[in-house]
Amino acid sequence: MKKIQQILKEKGVKPSFQRIRVLECLMKSKEHPTVEMIYLKLAKEIPTISKTTIYNTLGLFEDKGLVDDLTISGQEARYDYKEKPHSHFYCKKCRNIIDIESIRVPCHKDEICGNQIEEAHYYFRGVCKRCLNKKGGDVNG
Ligand SMILES: [Zn+2]
Ligand SMILES: [Zn+2]
Repeated sequence: MKKIQQILKEKGVKPSFQRIRVLECLMKSKEHPTVEMIYLKLAKEIPTISKTTIYNTLGLFEDKGLVDDLTISGQEARYDYKEKPHSHFYCKKCRNIIDIESIRVPCHKDEICGNQIEEAHYYFRGVCKRCLNKKGGDVNG
C-alpha cells in the first residue's frame, strides 16, 4: 500500500499531520464514518483537532477526488475513501453502510445523450444480512 503522505502529494494536497490522520482513519475504517465518528476517534489522539478541521479536510479531499461523500442515509454525510469503484448498501435498521461489488451498467453514447460519464454511484437500501438473521432468532447477530 502506498504511503498516505505520497497519496496526498500526488493529489496536490500538502500532507499535514492532521490530514494524514484523517485519511488514514478513512482508509482503515470499513464503516463509512461521519464527521462526528472521525472526530471522536481522532480527538483522543489529537486533542487540538476540531470538527471544523475534519469537515474542511474532508471537503478538500473530496475536491481532489480522494474521498466520496455518501448521502445514502438521507440524514448525515458519510465518508468513504475512494480506492476503487464500488456500490453501497445501506441498512435501514442498524444504519450500517456495507460495500458491495460495483454494478456495471453498459452505456452507449446515444443512451446518455452524448454526455460523458466519468463515474457512477449506486446505492441500495434495505435490511442487512445481520439484521435479517437477528429477526429470525439467530444468536450470531
Ligand atoms: Zn443492519
Ligand atoms: Zn464504500
